[in-house]
Amino acid sequence: NGGGGGAAKLDRIQVLVRLRPLSEKEIARGEPAEWECINDTTVMFRSTFPDRPTAPTAYTFDRVFHSDCSTKEVYEEGVKEVALSVVSGINSSIFAYGQTSSGKTYTMTGVTEHTVADIYDYINKHEERAFVLKFSAIEIYNEVVRDLLSAENTPLRLWDDAEKGTYVENLTEVVLRDWNHLKGLISTVESSAREFLGKDKSTTLVASANFVDLAGSERASQAMSAGTRLKEGCHINKSLLALGTVIRKLSMGSNAHIPYRDSKLTRILQPSLGGNARTAIICTLSPATSHIEQSRNTLLFGSCAK
Ligand code: ADP
Ligand code: MG
Repeated sequence: NGGGGGAAKLDRIQVLVRLRPLSEKEIARGEPAEWECINDTTVMFRSTFPDRPTAPTAYTFDRVFHSDCSTKEVYEEGVKEVALSVVSGINSSIFAYGQTSSGKTYTMTGVTEHTVADIYDYINKHEERAFVLKFSAIEIYNEVVRDLLSAENTPLRLWDDAEKGTYVENLTEVVLRDWNHLKGLISTVESSAREFLGKDKSTTLVASANFVDLAGSERASQAMSAGTRLKEGCHINKSLLALGTVIRKLSMGSNAHIPYRDSKLTRILQPSLGGNARTAIICTLSPATSHIEQSRNTLLFGSCAK
């Protein structure tokens, strides 16, 4: 719905695309890069095969990052503003969406570290305020929620509370000492990570920034097309599919019912999606020939979120 100045822009879901470089294996196989960022907002598919007569197709987003961009640039130019809204008491969610191997974990890990470094920077500049930063990490697989910071591997239940909203029972919350402490925790968490960074004061402003490293998006398309295995696929990917629906409905700005309750992920993230909350989706894209179909699906998902 374009137009307008900064205020209008703040209300929208930010959709970013990050193209990763070809991997060494892909280069060794002689795969060409099929996608190119032609400016700051447009990524273009150009088939490099003369025998495959596909017209160049351009996709436009809020921001696209070419394969030489560092995670720092992705953070500074695409994520920072959304993520740092927590220091003003506004919840945020940052997602990485893309097929397996497209760079979700690589991107989210870096983005999380940059965010926390900036939050510490902000804290140091605001000595008049007291802050507590807490970190939690969960994995949702097969609609089972597990605490990535706990040695016990027992599934955790979700509870609905009139005041707290939906929360994860017995979830470990580590009070962060400093940025290095976070780095240590992240290496524990490894891949599937979700974090809460809350801050509070005696008359508290509490907010969370959620960093969501989603399941490989190929699972969503498999779930939709798997025929007899549909049920299983849908179950495994319930959260991914439900998130897609929630984001699509939110982006339409409709007052329609938003089906947050359809999955664990959307239940947990409800306070950090829609309403006042800020959202950025980083669509991670592989340039490889073998990934063309999934890359298109990823861009379609991103387009639907706008
Ligand atoms: P995903 O989490 O989507 O499955 P990963 O983040 O694990 O994918 O990335 C797959 C591989 O590609 C990893 O070895 C990672 O280090 C590398 N990689 C991903 N994105 C980039 C990038 N932008 N620049 C350099 N290497 C990258
Ligand atoms: Mg990963």
